[in-house]
Amino acid sequence: MKFIIASSNHGKLDEFRDLFGDTGFAFHAQSEFGVADAEEIGATFIENALIKARHATHATGLPALGDDSGLCVDALGGAPGLYSARYSGVHGNAAANIDKLLYALDGVPDAQRGAHFYCVLVLLRHADDAQPLVAEGVWEGRILEAPRGSGGFGYDPVFLSPEHGCSAAELDPALKNRISHRGRALAALHDRLVALRGSIA
Ligand code: IMP
Repeated sequence: MKFIIASSNHGKLDEFRDLFGDTGFAFHAQSEFGVADAEEIGATFIENALIKARHATHATGLPALGDDSGLCVDALGGAPGLYSARYSGVHGNAAANIDKLLYALDGVPDAQRGAHFYCVLVLLRHADDAQPLVAEGVWEGRILEAPRGSGGFGYDPVFLSPEHGCSAAELDPALKNRISHRGRALAALHDRLVALRGSIA
């Protein structure tokens, strides 16, 4: 049984393959089928995840998994949120995104620097699936005043995991994958997929 990961991000693909290896499904990147990234025009994370999954399942005729994620900062009314990847104006420029975030929070005291990462996964079994499987994950933390650590990606150097007393970029990658918003969403989806086995084409 095949299904499509509606992403061109190799890190994500490896993570899906690792975690879902025991589900009996074979995972394929949409790029293997010549499918380009969908435009993320939704007003919410879940709409964007659905747009990606629908785009991939329409183009391939196979079940598809879409995801979306971002960083939501309390003191900024949930920004950068949906726009996390392009907060500074340039898609994927992590250093510029961090600079803009630290500037926006300049002078904001520790107690008001709460934030969370959010991830939602949507699995469409076919293009007309009216009941997609949805799983979400949240990782609570705080925004540091300066970057710490060299691991991870995106906002990891400025995201403090209060439970571990270090930034996401200082955490062991395997630990991060387990406790992160994405890890939690994947774990939730994993159990539902195993239960679904047999009903997916
Ligand atoms: P997307 O889900 O691939 O669209 O990612 C959205 C953006 O959110 C990324 O480009 C990062 O800026 C940010 N982001 C999502 N997850 C993480 C994470 O685990 N660490 C750091 N940044 C993240």
